[in-house]
Amino acid sequence: MTSLKKLCVFCGSSSGRDSTYVEEAKALGEYLASEKIQLTYGGGSIGLMGAIANAAYDEGQNRVLGIIPVGLCAREISGETVGEQIQTKDMHERKRLMAENSDGFVALPGGFGTMEELFEVITWQQLGYHKKPIGVLNVNGYFDSLLTFLDEARESGFVSEEARNIVLSDDDAERLIGKMRQYTAPRGVIEQEFQG
Ligand code: AMP
Repeated sequence: MTSLKKLCVFCGSSSGRDSTYVEEAKALGEYLASEKIQLTYGGGSIGLMGAIANAAYDEGQNRVLGIIPVGLCAREISGETVGEQIQTKDMHERKRLMAENSDGFVALPGGFGTMEELFEVITWQQLGYHKKPIGVLNVNGYFDSLLTFLDEARESGFVSEEARNIVLSDDDAERLIGKMRQYTAPRGVIEQEFQG
């Protein structure tokens, strides 16, 4: 059983064409606030990032921690941001601090930035660098083709069964977080090397 006190959410700096994306980002944020799970995120106020941050923030009750490279502030922040903010010198520091300040990772719909962040934490777990659960919130079937591709990659022999199982998914936020709490990570390569 994983205790999820801080959740890192990767999501788009755009809102997507369908209003469901924003609605589900808000619903996840509200669920985090109700469960008093800190939101750790990319620190922007635009797109799905802004939607989830505003919903997850509950002054004095629930923390929201945004982590953003100083050079991206002008591009990804317009107007007020909620909660606390850490400005980093670069993207590498941002990603390291996002990972350190979380007990698990969720990807909401997003573009290349979101995909890169998602795949990085998957590969880090495949290598045994961390054991934190990773979930994909499949809003509106956005990730259907990606999840099918991951199954095909397993069937083709490029992704092991164990590695494929790293990626949890659901179309419902509460169910996804339930799966993440139950998750046990595989023994990673690094760990195996160190333990002989
Ligand atoms: P996008 O999903 O492309 O809208 O981007 C979502 C977030 O991912 C934004 O905050 C971007 O700054 C961030 N992002 C973009 N490129 C990268 C990257 N290489 N590594 C980590 N985050 C990134």
